[in-house]
Amino acid sequence: MSSVFIVSAPSGSGKSTLVERLLSSVPGLTFSISYTTRSPRGHEKNGQDYFFIPAEEFQVMIEGGEFLEWAVLFGKDYYGTARRFLEEARRQGHDLVLDIDVQGAAQIKQKLPDAASIFILPPSRDALVARLRGRGEDAEEVIQRRLGRAAGEIEDYSKYDYVVINDWIEQAAEKLCAIVLAARVSRQAGAGADPAANDPEAKRWLELAHACRTASVSEQVQPILETFSTARK
Ligand code: 5GP
Repeated sequence: MSSVFIVSAPSGSGKSTLVERLLSSVPGLTFSISYTTRSPRGHEKNGQDYFFIPAEEFQVMIEGGEFLEWAVLFGKDYYGTARRFLEEARRQGHDLVLDIDVQGAAQIKQKLPDAASIFILPPSRDALVARLRGRGEDAEEVIQRRLGRAAGEIEDYSKYDYVVINDWIEQAAEKLCAIVLAARVSRQAGAGADPAANDPEAKRWLELAHACRTASVSEQVQPILETFSTARK
């Protein structure tokens, strides 16, 4: 049996770095490489970051039922998760990691209710602005558009099972890994059994994961949300 982990975050939250850390630290994970109709950015490689395909080809894949979920983002670009990544992960006994947006996460949760969803939050709007500017990838106008979109996306955090606040990358990476590892030990232990019995490492993963449960972090999330809503007023 495999588990599915959905990771979503506003652009600039450090999600890619965290997902890279997760994939290099935890064995037995398959990353789903999405299909998109958007153009590659400078450093991106086809088949590695995304499969970059023309809109016509994307349409054929939709009609062929090849996507587990797909969404139109920024009013024009199509993004989709291919079903075959899940099939491949299952065949290999791997867990699958999806880096998808809020709409995609909702579709996956509907089809696979056991999937665990994780929302990565920046520690504040100022921190997000600093990261977006620091990347030096986008023009100010694009940065402002991303910030506007982030404010909307962040409001959906409560639909996720877990929230990881990315204030320190090392800690945030440890939490993300713990969520995956805790889910794995719980699944392996089976219903009714104590997954942490005689295993201090598993106990730590379970504690860290529990502390990231959406209900557990709401007090820490409120001040972050306020930095976004104040900026909109
Ligand atoms: P970017 O264009 O900056 O790489 O990604 C923009 C957004 O698309 C991000 O929020 C990313 O998580 C999301 N995304 C990437 N792949 C998929 C996908 O297959 N499905 C959905 N629904 N969203 C995706």
